Amino acid sequence: MKYISTRDKSISITSSKGILQGISRDGGLFVPEIIPKIENLETFKDMDYKQLAYSIMRKYLTDYDDISLKHCINKAYDEKFSTEEISPLVDVGGVYYLELFHGATFAFKDIALSILPYLLKEAININKEEKEIVILTATSGDTGKAALENFANIKGIKIIVFFPEDGVSNIQKLQMITQEGENTFVVGVKGDFDDAQSSVKKILNDSDFIDFLDGNNYRFSSANSINIGRLIPQIVYYFHSYLTLLKEGNIANDEKINFVVPTGNFGNILAGYYAKEMGLPINKLICASNENNILTDFINTGIYDRRRKLVLTSSPSMDILISSNLERLLFHLSGQDDVLIKGLMEQLSEEGYYELENLHLDDFKAYYSSEEEISYSINRVFQQCNYLMDPHTAVAHNAYEKYRLETSDNTKTVIISTASPFKFGESVASSIGIDISNYDEFQILVELGKKTNTNIPKGILDLKDKRILHKNSCNKEDVKKVIKRYLKVGEIDD
Ligand SMILES: *Cc1c(COP(=O)(O)O)cnc(C)c1O
Repeated sequence: MKYISTRDKSISITSSKGILQGISRDGGLFVPEIIPKIENLETFKDMDYKQLAYSIMRKYLTDYDDISLKHCINKAYDEKFSTEEISPLVDVGGVYYLELFHGATFAFKDIALSILPYLLKEAININKEEKEIVILTATSGDTGKAALENFANIKGIKIIVFFPEDGVSNIQKLQMITQEGENTFVVGVKGDFDDAQSSVKKILNDSDFIDFLDGNNYRFSSANSINIGRLIPQIVYYFHSYLTLLKEGNIANDEKINFVVPTGNFGNILAGYYAKEMGLPINKLICASNENNILTDFINTGIYDRRRKLVLTSSPSMDILISSNLERLLFHLSGQDDVLIKGLMEQLSEEGYYELENLHLDDFKAYYSSEEEISYSINRVFQQCNYLMDPHTAVAHNAYEKYRLETSDNTKTVIISTASPFKFGESVASSIGIDISNYDEFQILVELGKKTNTNIPKGILDLKDKRILHKNSCNKEDVKKVIKRYLKVGEIDD
């Protein structure tokens, strides 16, 4: 299996090289040349998460040998997760919630970032890479901590995380700035996620800077979902949830189901599209956005227009206007038209918009929710079903209600639940009627735990006594300078 660039498909490399490199030098993203198929799905029914992960990832990571791929999977999906199923499926009044937040940092990013360091280490071996790897990461809140946690103290790798100073929740911020590990470096950027992501992507495509670092024995990679090593592990839980429904007799063989995905950078839902293309019986992939509803507009009109202001919401991990992974979907849907994609992405960067006609987006539906609707959903589902959702999951829940109203579709539906409500205590607590005005963030969590009769995850409570180790902040123009200072390398222009 080869991976090709969405902006120039003559660039073709192995999976391990794609993971090592993170992004193509032409600014394009790597995609599998052909999406592999799964046959006889019902024979997968009795597999546990790890066996299923192996069966699926085996088809994509063809230059990893069996033993090392199994090793990566075994190391990733162990006691770091608090549930044996890794991704449990919960029935809430006939709708299923796929809970992806039982890993070390309490958000769905743990599923892919638990395995990425092992895949990357093996990629270093396969490609006999001798330089030190520097993972550059921009985060809208959850990727940063999940990457830090999983890459901390790994020899031969350094990790640098840029987060938007005012665009993450208090708990998300504390999780990052208290990170231990000599190879970790965390910087707040004055700006929003798009600023942080654009700066990082620009550096990953800056060939003079890359050559300069090469001379200093460093090589960049990325832990963002632009890295194909982030996407492939995410395909697994789509299959896992389907097979769980099948095994428990909730659906019949080949019965189609819907997935509702709270979406930001379009990585999670793209993994769902890959699952569908592989043969998983999916009816609709429902793209749920918050007030940053650029994807809703695009899916409904074919116009992608980022000439609008980014809004800070209670679902900060989705406060994004440039959804990187949409580029991959468009590449596949256009019949791998790399010239078209290159043109669109240049137009987006220069003029701020593009328009596509004859889009075949029939697999997708899209809705967005206001802050009020999100808060209302959190409260209502808690009151009626005694189930507590975080604001991102509530965005998906609300989109599903709109979909049902519009279509009356009764297809069984899985809502992707992406974070623990305790990561976003303030907005969850006030949504269910707790007066938070006199509490600090930890008192709020205590009240939230009491009122909902649930345990605060220990990893979140422990933050209270942790030392703040990272106090760096910079302007978006200075990202390169900051990297140079941290890596202690000399003189190239910023
Ligand atoms: C990252 C994230 C999302 C958005 O996922 P994408 O893959 O970027 O679309 C949604 N919810 C939470 C909690 C997240 O951390």
